[in-house]
Amino acid sequence: MKHRFAPVLTALALALPLHMAHAAEEKVLNLYSARHYQTDEQLYGEFTKKTGIKINRIEADDNALFERLKNEGKNSQADVIVMVDAARIWRAEIEGFFQPVKSKTLDSRIPANLRGKDDGKGSEWFGFSKRARVIVYNKGTVKPEDVATYESLADPKNKGKVCTRSGSHPYNLSLIGSMIERNGQQATEEWAKGMVANFARPPRGGDTDQIKGVASGECGVAIANSYYYARLLRSTKPEDVAMMKNVGFIWPNAKTSGTHFNIAGGGVAKHAPHRENAVKFLEYLASDDAQRYFADGNNEWPVVTSVKVKNEALEGLGSYKIENVPVSLIGKNQIAAQRILDRVGYK
Ligand code: FE
Repeated sequence: MKHRFAPVLTALALALPLHMAHAAEEKVLNLYSARHYQTDEQLYGEFTKKTGIKINRIEADDNALFERLKNEGKNSQADVIVMVDAARIWRAEIEGFFQPVKSKTLDSRIPANLRGKDDGKGSEWFGFSKRARVIVYNKGTVKPEDVATYESLADPKNKGKVCTRSGSHPYNLSLIGSMIERNGQQATEEWAKGMVANFARPPRGGDTDQIKGVASGECGVAIANSYYYARLLRSTKPEDVAMMKNVGFIWPNAKTSGTHFNIAGGGVAKHAPHRENAVKFLEYLASDDAQRYFADGNNEWPVVTSVKVKNEALEGLGSYKIENVPVSLIGKNQIAAQRILDRVGYK
């Protein structure tokens, strides 16, 4: 993925005397985003059309955003921070990058388990789209009933078949964080050990690479986020179409605890110079139109339950059961998850 930096913008903003920065306050919003899809651009354009508030986007990957926010400290011009995955949002929360927001609109539209905890002052972050962590398998070499749950991937019967990206990637840290919540630390460590014993190859690449590994037969089974799978399903490139014929899809834990879901989301930055605009922007992201755009642009699901997306690839996956673990707990468990990975050598 391509990341765009706009260092000049911030340098300029920092160089402005404070009163001048304030004079510009009314119609500007500085958005720090780890998401970068073309559809997001249209979304932001709509917001500007509706409100007259111009969006300055600073897009970078999560680590670069973290560094930047840390370095900027109180001088940060960030108004809204958007991140993907609970593990990262949780990290941003404990770094103190957000401030609480009390908004009737956000509270009524976003389910409580998909926003930060509210001690009366409001939540510090809000989920705006949902993604599932799913299992894909090679139709020729693996029987779906042998890989129907996350737990089953660590079973000795799947020896030499399992592929995942790095255990330390936030997507896996969150998955393991939810397993700690459901199964306890000890069982999760046993599971992680079993995963390492079952690897077809050492973890490498992203989720798309795991799906490709399954298609080629190098991997029998893999874990991937739903939108990577849906993206390949929607692809009209002949090589993708041929490849996906070999790949089966599973809603993990459909008959037990339900599938692990995660969010992309964000909140108002701690030192936001344009706080009102920032809240307006978050409320806009929770609107019907924006929800549809934000979710569908990356083949995700809206968090606002009344909003429906017409996406044939997603609909084709059928109905699902969502795991009942609050996103905030998933984030909190990521340190314990990383320790387990270190102990069992799940790199
Ligand atoms: Fe991703």
